[in-house]
Amino acid sequence: MKKYEFWFVVGSQFLYGPEVLETVAARAAEMAEKMTQGGILPCPLVYKATVKTDAEITAIMKAANADDACAGVVTWCHTFSPSKMWIHGLGLLQKPWCHMATQYNRHIPNEEIDMDFMNLNQAAHGDREHGFIGARMRLPRKVIAGYWQDAPLQRDLADWMRAAIGYAFSHALKVIRFGDNMREVAVTEGDKVEAHIKLGWQVDYWPVGHLVETMDAVTDAEVDAKMAEYAERYTMATDDVETVRYQAREEVAMRKILAREGAQAFINNFQDLYGMRQLPGLASQNMMADGIGYGGEGDWKVSGMTAIMKTMAEGLDGGTLFMEDYTYDLEPGKEVSLGAHMLEVCPSIAANKPRIEVHALGIGDREPPARLVFEGKAGPGIVASLIDMGGRLRLIVQDIEVIKPILEMPNLPVARVMWKPAPDLLTGVKCWIHAGGAHHTVLSTAVTAAMMEDWAGMMGIEYVHIGKDTTVEGLKKELFYNDIAWKLKNL
Ligand code: MN
Repeated sequence: MKKYEFWFVVGSQFLYGPEVLETVAARAAEMAEKMTQGGILPCPLVYKATVKTDAEITAIMKAANADDACAGVVTWCHTFSPSKMWIHGLGLLQKPWCHMATQYNRHIPNEEIDMDFMNLNQAAHGDREHGFIGARMRLPRKVIAGYWQDAPLQRDLADWMRAAIGYAFSHALKVIRFGDNMREVAVTEGDKVEAHIKLGWQVDYWPVGHLVETMDAVTDAEVDAKMAEYAERYTMATDDVETVRYQAREEVAMRKILAREGAQAFINNFQDLYGMRQLPGLASQNMMADGIGYGGEGDWKVSGMTAIMKTMAEGLDGGTLFMEDYTYDLEPGKEVSLGAHMLEVCPSIAANKPRIEVHALGIGDREPPARLVFEGKAGPGIVASLIDMGGRLRLIVQDIEVIKPILEMPNLPVARVMWKPAPDLLTGVKCWIHAGGAHHTVLSTAVTAAMMEDWAGMMGIEYVHIGKDTTVEGLKKELFYNDIAWKLKNL
């Protein structure tokens, strides 16, 4: 995240004379600097220019496209900036765009206000002209409004910046498939070429045999180093050291291949472990703990989303992880959902220090694998699911409240997270099922629905949000209208 910056470009024109333009430029530089120093933005906001002509705007948008460090452009009109001069430049812009509607002064000064003041401080006027051209050109953009020194506006800008980082990361993402999708399952399938075109992901297969070969070449010293890392991070709650060492060997090998290929996410499938003694459990969990994306049963879409959302969450409190809805507790009025996976739950959400345990795994026909066992930490969050609707991708996001598990579940040999989905479990389940959301999700208590909405907007994919005000009736209409709209869009 630290390698990115955002450009602040302020619109004006020559009508007001050089003095006004100098004031605008000085104030814009001051605003960018103070907002950057405010401690809320994850990346610097860098004042670039006060633009007055088509040529200036075109040049700066081209420069933004070409600069890898620039993750997005924030525009604002301190004065009036006729929008015809923006058409060419905005049409060329390939980076996320945020229109920040703000004003240098908080208050209207009673004595000082005259027509000179009005000509200098007319953002209410300028931002409307600027807004029109965004609407007229149907450009994806974030619009935020508020006083620039206030935390709510800076938080909106920070959320959008995180989405823009996710956009940049998505376009460089490589997902490695150690195996194919689980046989017969539908929702984990998808059009990988469509994902490459729309999201920028390269999703490639590497034979499990290549992974086994790489595992065979891992040295004892490499396994020792990984074991030392496990000992530092987790509580060793097994005497079966050899089983844990096998996970270490798997992890070292998987990381080598990911590093060599420049990949940030991977999948495996318990049906496709030819030549391996254990399904990677602890190995996958420890990789996720370091920000690597993962999906079970060959689910490369959830793996890619996990990696992206982990990047968007960088520096925030809370966890971001691959999750699976398993089972409900249906006590009337207190309904909750229990999520887990057969092994691979990321410890970023752990409420306690995870324990390394070895248990038999009924699925997959391999030796009992080592895995991390822990309880999820309570807090507000979301679950997100990316599905392929055939011709388009749909991102479904549901608000949830992660709670301390209502039971101890002493015989459940995996990490577990319990939550209440919005608006309530039963309505939420109906909405989720109508929308086609998967059993696999990315659960996050760091990334918000607002960030995901921005991200989906930047990627140009369908976004469906299930929150406290969602009704089944309303959602069904939304899905029906979305279908028509997206069909028209694809023509
Ligand atoms: Mn699964």
